[in-house]
Amino acid sequence: MSLDFHIYSPEEEITDVLFEEKNIQVFAKRDDQIHPFISGNKWRKLKWNLKAAKRENKNKLVTFGGAWSNHILATAAAAAKFGFHSIGIIRGEEITNPVLAIAKLYGMEIHFIDRETYRSKENYFNNNFGSKEHYFIDEGGRSDLGILGCKEIISELTQDYTHIITAAGTGTTAAGLRQGLDEKMFDTKLLIVPVLKSADFLKEDLNNWNIDNRNIQWIMDYHFGGYAKTNYELNQFINFFVSHTGILIEPTYTGKVCYALYDLIQKDHFPQGSKILFLHTGGMTGLLGHLNKM
Ligand SMILES: *Cc1c(COP(=O)(O)O)cnc(C)c1O
Repeated sequence: MSLDFHIYSPEEEITDVLFEEKNIQVFAKRDDQIHPFISGNKWRKLKWNLKAAKRENKNKLVTFGGAWSNHILATAAAAAKFGFHSIGIIRGEEITNPVLAIAKLYGMEIHFIDRETYRSKENYFNNNFGSKEHYFIDEGGRSDLGILGCKEIISELTQDYTHIITAAGTGTTAAGLRQGLDEKMFDTKLLIVPVLKSADFLKEDLNNWNIDNRNIQWIMDYHFGGYAKTNYELNQFINFFVSHTGILIEPTYTGKVCYALYDLIQKDHFPQGSKILFLHTGGMTGLLGHLNKM
């Protein structure tokens, strides 16, 4: 299948009495609708990498992640769709779970490596997959080409926003959004919600990518204890949000962003008349690891 596949990612308004009260409009860009498993921002980050791999005649994608990684699953599904072989290198003890099971169904070859070896992924790749057919994709799709893909989100927008809010894991998506906004000379504020604890490294990474800090607001206090951590309050909020909007979110990424958004609106962080875009980055399989606690 051609790599110019058509994507569907509409912007739709979310309504709530809180927004009316505060005279604020909220929209969601539904990148979760791009594909069930080549989910959201993972497609954005893969797109130009896959084009590069095709151009370089590399037909084996090698990538890295944790056992619940949305990126691992997205790479497996995209590889199957676009005619690549995929190899997923998973950090830690060998386990089985629904995410890895679906990745395998898409034909991904899965290897588990210990955390020590995982820390030097590039070495591991060079030692084991040095041949010309193998294409390296970093954990989470983190890459310059990933930034390029995420920039395209901005060109697709059908209206202007005063604010855009997004989750950050590697910060690639946020970097792309900021670059896209700057190129169009939009003065939209970008709110970045790290989903990890002690995520100050993200600020450095964005600096190293030459991302302008102007118009970025770091929202550091909504990680709920760390990556993939959740609590009763966050789960309650997710139950409320999903049942009121019909839009699925999960505790690892989008749940934290939406919680932060509602909380900041409540606390009058946004001026009256603000028009805010929540980027729904997808990742619904994240729910599968949490369902029994929701
Ligand atoms: C991977 C992921 C992110 C993090 O994106 P980065 O570009 O790594 O910051 C955000 N949301 C979801 C749903 C994801 O799967």
